[in-house]
Amino acid sequence: MIEISGLTKSYGSTVVLDGIDLTVGDAQIGAVVGPSGAGKSTLARTVNLLERPTSGSIVVNGQDLASLRGADLRAARREIGTVFQSANLLRRLTAAENVALPLRHHGVPEHQVKRRVHALLDRVGMLHRARHYPSQLSGGQRQRVGIARGLALGPSVLLSDEATSGLDPETTLSITTLLRELRDDLGVTILVITHEMDVVRGLADHVARLDHGRIIEQGPVDQVVRRSDSELSRALLPLPP
Ligand code: ATP
Ligand code: MG
Repeated sequence: MIEISGLTKSYGSTVVLDGIDLTVGDAQIGAVVGPSGAGKSTLARTVNLLERPTSGSIVVNGQDLASLRGADLRAARREIGTVFQSANLLRRLTAAENVALPLRHHGVPEHQVKRRVHALLDRVGMLHRARHYPSQLSGGQRQRVGIARGLALGPSVLLSDEATSGLDPETTLSITTLLRELRDDLGVTILVITHEMDVVRGLADHVARLDHGRIIEQGPVDQVVRRSDSELSRALLPLPP
């Protein structure tokens, strides 16, 4: 469960996030949509502790992340996996080595690393490309490896920042199917940042629209689509065939 309340983030005098309240329930998928510059990536980076909030709280599984230091902070970080746009794989490492990276970083014994990497690559359907380098993989395959790496430490929360942008509709569908499986089979709570309404429609339980650092509207997807006065509901209308 992710509970964000009163979250603000400023850089100098620039307010990028301005009082965000957002909750994603256990084993649910929350989507955040909004125009370029709205603050979506900043929100993701604050929730995964790459950035410190200026004020407000981010509670993950009952723990307020802003209050943690040292070993507690490191433990909390393991609970939150992240997948970025274009996966951010290290190009000199194979798919398997990329997935092993967080495990080695956290001192997981080598014989366990091998087993775990095998299981993770299998989970995302990439076992057959374990020894390939990122340049030898398709965009969708790189995303799958990125998701496997995001899951390496067994997080209960997964953040996905534009993980499907730039992918063709079929590949996007295979990634959203994978995310749905992670929610349904492993009970992972997922926050998806996207500008693709198809992804929201097909994947999310809850949706929030962010603009200029504020949430303009939010709610369960099945309720939001029925609101007559909602910009989100218009955006979420399926395109006529
Ligand atoms: P996009 O859809 O283009 O990815 P976004 O919603 O993810 O946009 P952010 O990357 O969160 O937007 O940026 C939000 C605003 O915060 C932008 O105006 C950006 O210039 C500003 N910003 C982000 N990081 C910093 C920083 N480190 N220092 C100063 N300003 C920043
Ligand atoms: Mg962004």
